[in-house]
Amino acid sequence: MTAESTTGSVYEFDSPMFREALAQFDRVGEMIGLDDNIHARLRVPQRAMVVAFPFRHDVYRDVETVFGYRVQHVLSMGPTKGGVRYAADVSLGEVAALAMLMTWKCAIVGLPFGGAKGGVRVDPTRLSSPEKQRVTRRYTSEIINFIGPNKDIPAPDMGTDEQTMAWMMDTYSQNVGHTVPAVVTGKPLALGGSTARREATGRGAISLLPTAALRLGMTVEGARVAIHGFGNVGQYAAVAATELGCRVIAVSDISGGVHREDGIDVEEAMAWVAEHRSLEGYEGGDRITNEELLELECEVLLPAAIAGVITGENAGRIKARLVIEGANGPTTLEADRILEERGIMVVPDVLANAGGVTVSYFEWVQDLQNYFWSENQIVGRLREIMNSAFSEVLDVADQEGVGLRTAALIKGIRRVARAKVARGVFP
Ligand code: NAD
Repeated sequence: MTAESTTGSVYEFDSPMFREALAQFDRVGEMIGLDDNIHARLRVPQRAMVVAFPFRHDVYRDVETVFGYRVQHVLSMGPTKGGVRYAADVSLGEVAALAMLMTWKCAIVGLPFGGAKGGVRVDPTRLSSPEKQRVTRRYTSEIINFIGPNKDIPAPDMGTDEQTMAWMMDTYSQNVGHTVPAVVTGKPLALGGSTARREATGRGAISLLPTAALRLGMTVEGARVAIHGFGNVGQYAAVAATELGCRVIAVSDISGGVHREDGIDVEEAMAWVAEHRSLEGYEGGDRITNEELLELECEVLLPAAIAGVITGENAGRIKARLVIEGANGPTTLEADRILEERGIMVVPDVLANAGGVTVSYFEWVQDLQNYFWSENQIVGRLREIMNSAFSEVLDVADQEGVGLRTAALIKGIRRVARAKVARGVFP
């Protein structure tokens, strides 16, 4: 079967996001002369499970049926790995696209996993905690034969958290009759979670800053950093940037942002958000809009909120010299081209936010060994993995004369292709 002949049969996964992931993969596959048969195979997930299941509302008589998904893109690299998303618009196509991106992300940083993703189409903000627990336990039961520490290891994503992972782990363990911490990552510490998992994505993204700055001839000490999105990724990126001696001059969230040229008090801003759930009302700087934050005069811009915020419309006005993508997909393809033309370095999401899955990998290894590492070991190993992946991506970019996003994908896709060639076709 050729790549072309698979084109006609991907409608099972059709969605705007899947089309974009596919276009990206097709472009890079063609560029590197990827074998047609491997190309055709990797255009679609290997396994996809769709489940429909009921859960009881807190009013006992009210039962609602929802859809759940678990998609595994490639099983050749080891178990599959990827988050579980609860959102009102989750679809098979979206989950399939995210599973494919997880394959490349794991391969780029050299983790022994293929990509997976899961989701339940339900708005988590309208669920009480007991309702969310019932959804989680039933979803886990429905996909139970599909997951496992040697098969597929879920983790938190949008709308799910440590508590959700605790329920998933408990449901799985009750079913097999013994405790299996390694079935999920992103768990509470008390259940075999890993220290430094919460900080991992933000910290990992900022750990690439010194190498990027060196390339750009930019000084890290005192560099001005603007952070769009002040949740898990944005907050810990702010902490890590401050530790490096940078000046975090602006942060924002869904309620808008604050700007202070001589530096935001990151700890104080985090404490405000912990208490008030958003930056609304925080007076540690001048109020600015999210749009203004993106266009601020600064050295480093770190989008850490939602997809598609740097677009063809505003890319010409971005003043940062370096963009580090903490969020997934913050830069549109058109904006990417504009930033490249303007000489602004973009460290792409598949590399920049891989710190989360890297510490998830550490958590899985620790659970399998029942031996837990110190925070220093974890942070040190995270920095090492992120930076060696980054320097390999920089080498590919230099050798092939391409931007960092293309270089990262080339690295990831080549690694998966090599593994598939070595394993051959069964039977
Ligand atoms: P989060 O829910 O903790 O924080 C999201 C932040 O973005 C919040 O401050 C929220 O107010 C803000 N936000 C939401 N909509 C916004 C808007 N329209 N404009 C401005 N700000 C807005 O989520 P997170 O875990 O920090 O994830 C952020 C991004 O990073 C997502 O794209 C996610 O997919 C990606 N990511 C997260 C991890 C992780 O380990 N948490 C790993 C890889 C990628």
